Amino acid sequence: MHPDPCPCGSGHLLDACCGPLLAAESQAVTAEELMRSRYTAHVYGNAEHLWRTWDGRTRPAEVHLDDTRWLGLEVREVVDGSPQDATGIVDFVARYEGGQLAERSEFTRRGGRWFYTKEI
Ligand SMILES: [Zn+2]
Repeated sequence: MHPDPCPCGSGHLLDACCGPLLAAESQAVTAEELMRSRYTAHVYGNAEHLWRTWDGRTRPAEVHLDDTRWLGLEVREVVDGSPQDATGIVDFVARYEGGQLAERSEFTRRGGRWFYTKEI
């Protein structure tokens, strides 16, 4: 067990938040959960989680991560993305050393699992 706070900024501990998702021990219930886990995967350099949770229709053959130092995540807006929805949108700002990334991401749910589709 890691008593660390989750890097995604949820206020939960890593083991009760993105940790089990990164370890493929559980699945994201909402698009926002998946988005948060993908941010945390960037923090920990977990390219496998990014690839696994990327829509097969839009993902690259391989996910390459650089050495960006991520500093925090703020989710600005969520549209749909509940367990009853087939799609969802998460608008967020991720801060890193030297700048920030603002993105509006689209997610899709297939076979009971959420996947990142693309930036919109
Ligand atoms: Zn988290």
